[in-house]
Amino acid sequence: MRVAQGWERSTILVRMGDLVENCLHSEGLRISTGSEYRCPLCDESMDLDGVGRWVQDAERSRDEAYSMVEGDGFGEIVREELQREVYRRRRVMYELENVPRVVTARPEMILVIHDAAKASYGCRIFYKGPRPAGVVEQVSVGAALERILELRSDPDPVVRLISEKVEEFHAFRAELTAGGAPAPERRVFYANEL
Ligand SMILES: [Zn+2]
Repeated sequence: MRVAQGWERSTILVRMGDLVENCLHSEGLRISTGSEYRCPLCDESMDLDGVGRWVQDAERSRDEAYSMVEGDGFGEIVREELQREVYRRRRVMYELENVPRVVTARPEMILVIHDAAKASYGCRIFYKGPRPAGVVEQVSVGAALERILELRSDPDPVVRLISEKVEEFHAFRAELTAGGAPAPERRVFYANEL
């Protein structure tokens, strides 16, 4: 009996180990790009089907633990733990299913102003209709190509768009200046150019 219990215990530990070896996504999953959800801890990203499989993995581990162990105090703790994991993952999935995906706001107009004194570009971003919460409204960037290009890797698509537009304006101004002509200090980009 003791031998059997020992065997069961080590088997469970190995199985728990299998579970823990991969990231448990213990902080839940965040909405990422497109229809993807991402774990902030390990960066794994999955679609909703993937999240469903992640829940099923926990259910399978729990079911296996139930079929394997009988009336053992340690087994009881393991089963409760696995059951809690099932509930936790289901909760993560339900929450993701119920969060309306935020449509990334498209700017309606971008105003870029060159500040000669500060050697920078100031950008104001205007949106159509009621402005969604948390959108970028102002961006300031040094008037140097490398500064402008740094914004290309920003996680916010609006900031990346700003980078493109400022680069365009910066190149245009540089060309005029090189030809000895006065360069405009401001430029408005309308929706059809964005
Ligand atoms: Zn993870």
